[in-house]
Amino acid sequence: MTKAAFRTITPELEMLAAEPYYQPVADEVALFEASAARRLPVLLKGPTGCGKTRFVEYMAWKLKRPLVTVACHDDLTTADLVGRYLIVGDETVWLDGPLTAAVRAGAICYLDEVVEARKDTTVVIHPLADTRRALAVDKRGELIPAPPEFMLVISYNPGYQSVLKEIKPSTRQRFVALEFDYPGAEVEAQIVATEGGIDLGSARKLVKLGELTRNLKGAGLDEGASTRLLVHAAQLIGTGVSAPVASTAAVARALTDDPDMTQTLDDMVRAVF
Ligand code: ADP
Repeated sequence: MTKAAFRTITPELEMLAAEPYYQPVADEVALFEASAARRLPVLLKGPTGCGKTRFVEYMAWKLKRPLVTVACHDDLTTADLVGRYLIVGDETVWLDGPLTAAVRAGAICYLDEVVEARKDTTVVIHPLADTRRALAVDKRGELIPAPPEFMLVISYNPGYQSVLKEIKPSTRQRFVALEFDYPGAEVEAQIVATEGGIDLGSARKLVKLGELTRNLKGAGLDEGASTRLLVHAAQLIGTGVSAPVASTAAVARALTDDPDMTQTLDDMVRAVF
């Protein structure tokens, strides 16, 4: 018996039931739709917490496709993505990994922070990201053609770029690249108000604080406060925590451990509120 003859378990993928709240920032929705129509893979680049994941969730809902998200990390292997043999009782079964399940279902597969994954994983995504559009499952000697609905989306944060963790030209040149950044102040205030359930005036102050911290990028902070952190502060405020206390905990303390930088951020919180 060949290995491929073992019973295959494919995790069921579900569609997002409710529309995720997503506030468009530029022409990203139209570009993503056009890429999907032409079966082009998409690379989302931008700092952490600026809406990339939410955007993909929204697009999956809009395009009526299931979404498989994989948070990549430095231990992530090809087997984690593609699948592996497992012993279940006295039976050997093949369990599809998330990428294989996504290909079979014609889903959107979102590989978040792809540069974190081990180098060998790029070998499996390359044929899916060009005209071959197929997934090689080497352990089973199987080549799975991707249905038209399958879409590969990857993200990376150019800010964390290092010699080791740079996305290779051979990989990036297969993707349509959409650039993300923190939204403009008024749009960001809308998002923070909506997500946190607070009034627009308070949300604007949080955005102001966010902007001040972003000016410290490269001058003591690796990165300023993301939209995510501002949303966290807003959510605390929404439950009744005072704005300065919420901002200190969710923004200032979340950003640094350095005593001098902590002092600077505390001063900023005081200045804004
Ligand atoms: P990333 O994937 O870029 O790290 P996320 O998509 O997880 O960031 O965004 C973090 C949070 O910021 C989201 O959970 C959401 O609350 C908020 N957010 C950021 N941008 C938007 C947006 N354009 N529309 C709605 N929510 C957003």
